[in-house]
Amino acid sequence: MFTSKLLLTAAAALSVAPKLLRAEFCSDGKCSDEVEKAKLASDAAEKYRPEDSIFSKIIRKEIPADIIHEDEKAIAFRDVNPVAPKHILVIPRKPITQLATSTEQDIPLLGHLLWVAKSVAEKENLNDSGYRIVINNGRDAAQSVYHLHIHILGGRQMSWPPG
Ligand code: AMP
Repeated sequence: MFTSKLLLTAAAALSVAPKLLRAEFCSDGKCSDEVEKAKLASDAAEKYRPEDSIFSKIIRKEIPADIIHEDEKAIAFRDVNPVAPKHILVIPRKPITQLATSTEQDIPLLGHLLWVAKSVAEKENLNDSGYRIVINNGRDAAQSVYHLHIHILGGRQMSWPPG
């Protein structure tokens, strides 16, 4: 019984692996179409184990990242593909896939993430010039990594509405 469950889990993981790999690594220049990237990630997310995400691997220090803040609930690191002179991601250690899947239990954690974003922006000297906080949630928002994250964007003039 246990073995067959294990085999099923392994088979499921293998069947989504190509999509996951493409969805998560196309930010390194192999995939330039943000919308296509988000659709792939959204498809993959349906079968996703958040603890397999690239951000969980950063939390576990299995892959490198330029980490600028760590505490018991959250970490912040520089985005590998910045879209502004300062582009930092704040993520919970808890593997929540997206804002939409957070629960009432997560209210203190969500508040903490916003507080970390505020503190990091201050340390990065963004207070005077200003900065933008973004959470992409799901396909239409072009979310590409299914581990909740707050983008801090600063260091240039931005426009509105976003594309
Ligand atoms: P989103 O499109 O809102 O899901 O944002 C995901 C962000 O994660 C993108 O801005 C990517 O550039 C960024 N990203 C993906 N992989 C890494 C990584 N290994 N280290 C840092 N940032 C990453």
